Amino acid sequence: MKIDRVETIVCHARMRNWIFVKVVTDQPGLYGWGEATLEWHTRSVVGAIEDVAVLLIGQDPRRIEYLWQMMWRQHFWHATGIVRSTAISALDIALWDILGKYHGVPCHQLWGGPVRDYIRLYCHLGGGNLEQFYETPVANAQLFGELAQRAVADGFSAFKSMAVPPSMPLEGLKPVRAAEACVAAMRDAVGEDIDVMVDCHARPSPAMGLQFAHALEPYGLYFLEEPCWPENIASLAAINAAVATPIATGERLTYSAAFRDLFAARGCEVCQLDLTHCGGFTEARRIAALADAYRIALAPHNPQGPVSTAASLEFGFAQPSYIICETVHADVPWRNDVVEEGFTVDLARRLVSPNVRPGLGIEINETEARKHPFEQEVPQRVWYQDGSVGDW
Ligand SMILES: [Mg+2]
Repeated sequence: MKIDRVETIVCHARMRNWIFVKVVTDQPGLYGWGEATLEWHTRSVVGAIEDVAVLLIGQDPRRIEYLWQMMWRQHFWHATGIVRSTAISALDIALWDILGKYHGVPCHQLWGGPVRDYIRLYCHLGGGNLEQFYETPVANAQLFGELAQRAVADGFSAFKSMAVPPSMPLEGLKPVRAAEACVAAMRDAVGEDIDVMVDCHARPSPAMGLQFAHALEPYGLYFLEEPCWPENIASLAAINAAVATPIATGERLTYSAAFRDLFAARGCEVCQLDLTHCGGFTEARRIAALADAYRIALAPHNPQGPVSTAASLEFGFAQPSYIICETVHADVPWRNDVVEEGFTVDLARRLVSPNVRPGLGIEINETEARKHPFEQEVPQRVWYQDGSVGDW
């Protein structure tokens, strides 16, 4: 069996261009799907896939580890950078999809079989709607409460919010009190049985991140995400040590040694590896093994498209330390036209039952996907009040 060709389909989904990758073998009807969505880097990722694919053509797709080593090592530049790591992640995911189809079993069966009966999903406020999640102003705490109630009405027992505003390296109490008011409004709106998460989006400096973490501590967050830049491992560790609230990070890390350094410093309690950026299933399984050694939970980053979701779920059914999966469902109204999924979601509770189809269990409707060709993503740019540049 040989890999015949690699195709990419770019599908513009408003906030992001979904990059679907199809690895096609020389066996009739046997191919695998991957996803390489990377907001604002679409053209470079598509080019990187083309660059890396030359290593795979003519190779046996079942030799996944061997091919992963080639992709990582044989172009001299290791895939530590986000563009190449995203490209090889998508190709790796597609290879595992092929292997599952070849053996006639879901991917999670290849890794030892299901370790749980279901996976819990969490949503963004607004279900992935760009304005409601990213642009609800922290001055409007009441709206945070209303959107939280809507998430619960949609069946979710957990949701994430952007309740921490951009702040300069040092600001006074105003942004801290604004974040606190938003989180208080959400907690009031949904009670204590619902899990509330806050994503700081690495906006704060370590000093501000610590202030936000202390201020939000009384509200019992399920986790507090990226309270400072991911490059500041020592600061993440300091914040994680200073509060009982579990700190989450990892979505921007691209290889196992970076996670090793994060875990060794105890920089988080929740590892948000992204299957489509961290090196695919092959590297994610190594990262998960490292996380297990530190008893750190796994909750994958997954605001992307439907192949990423299927991959995040297949991974979760085979990983004991996996706690919850991020999803968006209201980013574009035609999401379900583009994909047919092998797993089932209990919409009343947003719990996922395992996929029973081979591989990832999904089929991408290429005709539907091609109805939404590439468009420049909507920019999300931040400046502080004095005109200096901030983090989105
Ligand atoms: Mg995040």
